[in-house]
Amino acid sequence: MTAGAGAELSEPADLPAAPAPAAAPWEAEEGEVTEILVTLPPSFASQPKAVFEEDVEEKYIYGYEVKFNGSSVGLVSEKDKNAVNSAVREKVESFGEGAELADTLTFEGKFILVSQSSFAGEILSRLELSVKTVRCESRYSAEKAEVIQTPSDKVFLGDTVTVAEGKDGLLLSVYRVTEINGKTVSEELISRTEVEKKQDKLVLVGERVPVSLPADKAEVYGGFIFPLADAPCYVSSTFGYREFDDSFHNGTDYAADFGTPVYSAADGVVTFAGEDDTGFGNYVQIDHGNGFVTGYAHLSSIAVRPGDTVRQGDQVGSVGSTGYSTGNHLHLLVKYSGEYTDPQAIFGSR
Ligand SMILES: [Zn+2]
Repeated sequence: MTAGAGAELSEPADLPAAPAPAAAPWEAEEGEVTEILVTLPPSFASQPKAVFEEDVEEKYIYGYEVKFNGSSVGLVSEKDKNAVNSAVREKVESFGEGAELADTLTFEGKFILVSQSSFAGEILSRLELSVKTVRCESRYSAEKAEVIQTPSDKVFLGDTVTVAEGKDGLLLSVYRVTEINGKTVSEELISRTEVEKKQDKLVLVGERVPVSLPADKAEVYGGFIFPLADAPCYVSSTFGYREFDDSFHNGTDYAADFGTPVYSAADGVVTFAGEDDTGFGNYVQIDHGNGFVTGYAHLSSIAVRPGDTVRQGDQVGSVGSTGYSTGNHLHLLVKYSGEYTDPQAIFGSR
């Protein structure tokens, strides 16, 4: 901090006591702020905006209004800070007597230091000033992503599936800030812009009620044989909500070689054998008469006809990739009481 005529001041405490102000140095007057902003270009909108991570960013200072012992000295823009000095100097001169032409006036926010060259740097007085600062301040803040929950019958009751991760957005808020002697007395929101769009998190909330299987588990799980027997295969798509096409996958896909024999899982009657027009391709469906129905889709060939009675282990067709399919596999369906249930619960993952 520099003061008059080369004198170096380390602390304000070294200075003579300030004269007591005539009245309360400031009353914030609403009207003045508006005037200042009207008369001081340029507008904030024309300023380049930069993105920072910190909360408070660029500060565009429109101008200062300097008051000396309660009366206005003048308005100056930030660009012309020296004008503060000359304006204050003029004012000080007008007080005459003890404050002749001062060689140096140091603008230090609240204080103007007046010194005279003939006193070789001695500080004559410390005159209390009040400085009103009006500026625009841009602040960046996060716009919290929301969680949008949508009920879905593609997902079982009690389960949720996140179909899109949320991401917070970035808001730019511009405030008009008025300070008096470095202390904020008012803040006014001028504009708010969405710099980065927020992405809400999208969650499916399951509504599908799973069918309850008969209480006698041994009867259910012991009553079937696996339709591909001991042929090499693996589960390529499980039962339930399927993310890639946002669908409910109503069976289990067992990938296997083309032509692998497919056997009836239990005794029953063929209720469908032929080309299905909903995407199953060549399809066989067997009603086992105990509440269970099994289905065998995407077959390359069909070995039964509608109405046939089949025994457990009879071949009903061969693995293929007909219908809505991208590779050789058996889409195996199990229905109980008319509702789809998870084939893996009965046949395992192989
Ligand atoms: Zn499938």
